[in-house]
Amino acid sequence: MSGPRVLVAGASIAGPSAAHWLRRWGAEVTVVERAPGLRPGGQAVDARGVAKEAIRRMGLDPAVRAARTDTAGAYTVDVAGNVLETFRADDDGGDGYIADIEILRGDLSQVLYDNTRDGVEYVFDDRIAELSQDADEVDVTFASGGRRRFDLVVGADGLHSGLRSMVFGPRERFVRHLGLALAFYTVPNEFEVDRWMIDYQDQGSGRSSGLRPLRDATRAMAMFSFPAPDFDVDHRDVSAQKSLLRERMAGLGWLTPRILAHLDDTPDFYLDQVAQVVMDRWSSGRVVLLGDSAFSSSPMSGQGTGLALVGAYLLAGELAAADWDPEAGFAGYERRMRSFVEANQEIGRMHVHLRDAAGPDAEPRPEPDMEALTELIERAVNGVELPDYATLITSSS
Ligand SMILES: Cc1cc2nc3c(=O)[nH]c(=O)nc-3n(C[C@H](O)[C@H](O)[C@H](O)COP(=O)(O)OP(=O)(O)OC[C@H]3O[C@@H](n4cnc5c(N)ncnc54)[C@H](O)[C@@H]3O)c2cc1C
Repeated sequence: MSGPRVLVAGASIAGPSAAHWLRRWGAEVTVVERAPGLRPGGQAVDARGVAKEAIRRMGLDPAVRAARTDTAGAYTVDVAGNVLETFRADDDGGDGYIADIEILRGDLSQVLYDNTRDGVEYVFDDRIAELSQDADEVDVTFASGGRRRFDLVVGADGLHSGLRSMVFGPRERFVRHLGLALAFYTVPNEFEVDRWMIDYQDQGSGRSSGLRPLRDATRAMAMFSFPAPDFDVDHRDVSAQKSLLRERMAGLGWLTPRILAHLDDTPDFYLDQVAQVVMDRWSSGRVVLLGDSAFSSSPMSGQGTGLALVGAYLLAGELAAADWDPEAGFAGYERRMRSFVEANQEIGRMHVHLRDAAGPDAEPRPEPDMEALTELIERAVNGVELPDYATLITSSS
């Protein structure tokens, strides 16, 4: 029998990674992406522990390493630019705050797309408009008007997933806003940023601004975070997002005004709330969610990409090992992923609280329980087993 027909929604990180593995195990894969092409932009994302192993098993370690940011580390500064703390990229065996594999999100997406484009059908500028399923198939109508049938549908369409709303219910039920917003865009490197990332945090207001190096040394990446408990900006309205950033960053010192001066002439811009997705189940019948749409841990965990890479490996492997039976395959994927996701979501929430505005009369923060913290970090970086599906699938077929 020829492999199952699988539709994947979203061509960022989770989508092309799933396409790689589904195809490797014999599926016919179509990826539909709402944007007219691969979306550029976004901050650097990290691969640590098991996520590095998932990249290695895809055979993409050399391509990913070649596209890395080559950041030497990070330091925090006070308002006058004096260095307060330093973190090196080779701390903690390359799995620390600045990971050994750190790559711009858009560059990683490009590597994954280049790797899959020949054996996978990519459809840009389209999305699922309607979907219905029975015991055997999923009937999909696209916004462009076409109608097709698939055996399985994977939602890898991010935090604001349309597929999730369509199949599981309204976003408010699953998306937990953590009260913070982040923004990133590139600026000319008039700040002489070298291989080090610089972060200025204003404890009093809970805001931060920073700069990170890019491989193109003539440019640098601006980074901002600010408290936004009332966040209600449309995730596709860039001009409203820029106004919000300007308004919320007013009065912040260090190089902030000079960085903001480039806001209107930047070629890329990303701003979003820091939010997590918490769901009891990631599948319904023949439809399953993957990556941020299912279990966003938020950018503050630094692990959203790792979860997407590992989740794609496990989802495709469990499905193929179950001979493409959705019930058994999806159950295996959830069972293996859950506690790994929970550990990373805990890290995300912890990092948000560390940025809480201290206020003038704040008590000093209690010392963390280092033993519990070390155990949590280990679970978040390495706490999931990656079975050798190549052996499992060959021996069961
Ligand atoms: C432009 C951009 C910039 C980002 N910047 C950062 C960052 O700076 N820091 C950070 O930690 N994380 C960032 N992220 C999120 C990060 O990529 C994810 O946390 C992680 O890599 C998991 O990826 P994902 O593939 O599950 O979701 P995402 O990376 O969010 O990708 C979802 C994809 O689905 C597409 N899509 C949305 N709706 C539909 C639809 N209805 N039909 C078809 N396709 C759809 C989107 O255009 C996007 O390409 C960014 C994401 C994007 C899209």
